Amino acid sequence: MTRDILSAILAATVLVLLSACERPGKQTDSAAISATVKNIAVVETAGDVAESPDVEMVLQKVSSHVYYVKGKSGVATDNAGFISNAGIILGADGIVLFDALGTPALARLLLGKIRELSDLPIKAVIASHYHADHIYGLQVFKEAGATILGPNGAELYLESEVAEQRLEERRVSLYPWVDDNTQLLAPDEYINALHELDMGGVRLTITPLGAAHSDGDLAVFVEPDNVLFSGDIIFEGRIPFVGDADTRAWLNALGRMSERKVTALIPGHGGKAEKPDEAVALTQRYLAFLRSEMGAAVDEFVSFDEAYGDIDWSEFADLPAFEEANRRNAYQVYLSLEAEGLAQQ
Ligand SMILES: [Zn+2]
Repeated sequence: MTRDILSAILAATVLVLLSACERPGKQTDSAAISATVKNIAVVETAGDVAESPDVEMVLQKVSSHVYYVKGKSGVATDNAGFISNAGIILGADGIVLFDALGTPALARLLLGKIRELSDLPIKAVIASHYHADHIYGLQVFKEAGATILGPNGAELYLESEVAEQRLEERRVSLYPWVDDNTQLLAPDEYINALHELDMGGVRLTITPLGAAHSDGDLAVFVEPDNVLFSGDIIFEGRIPFVGDADTRAWLNALGRMSERKVTALIPGHGGKAEKPDEAVALTQRYLAFLRSEMGAAVDEFVSFDEAYGDIDWSEFADLPAFEEANRRNAYQVYLSLEAEGLAQQ
């Protein structure tokens, strides 16, 4: 194979370059040069531990028990796949993670960062939802002893052809960080109802939101810090994509969070919300509005099109994503309220 020959030729160069650079990830000239060389050589050492991609990953402190790392905005294969965020929650006797990043190599890098912070065992990883950019790192934490908690609905993704095709595609587009050793791991426990975890005084409330951004989404609220990990469902200052979400559960969860006053909101992508309370309140107002307006239409047997046209949307019409998302959101809520009504009869 070309790669074998190439890596043999380059082996000596790698040794020289490796001894010249401090640690992978540090931006020295020699590290930058060797990054490309290592990418090729490391994988040939047989599928065991690949080295770190050359990305900047910094643990950012959010509150006394909460840290996160922030991926760079971009498409899925940018920045060696480091485009999503992961949360680290430190309890008295263990650590729980929120999401696992988009490649095993990134997860290993994260594990190293966590070990600079604490030696406590990683008890669990909560997967916000089953999309490639959040779950390919799961296997690293499972190997480290963590239990995987995931949303109901993850099984739909795992059984789908899309999941298999996506993995095949990423084995090429994110090679060598995603390769034949990268697996799709199912949750050890599926979360289908409000679930609480006590980590010795640090309490996590895991809320399933139904099929919102994906086939199943979870949000996690951390007390006493009052930090919310929203996965991909709350986007600051814009209209959320409701999808087939359980808007009643979503709204209830937001209600509980707003009572406790969210001090920080960490989304699945991008930086933490500037105004977490406003982000929560806006999503809450929007969902409540959809439910009340669509509920009235359903109760009075008004057709969706007629109801939609009659509603005054001005409170939300100027927000980003309104054009793309609102009509579909409203329609989904209309259908789900019809179904809820039928269920009560
Ligand atoms: Zn995502």
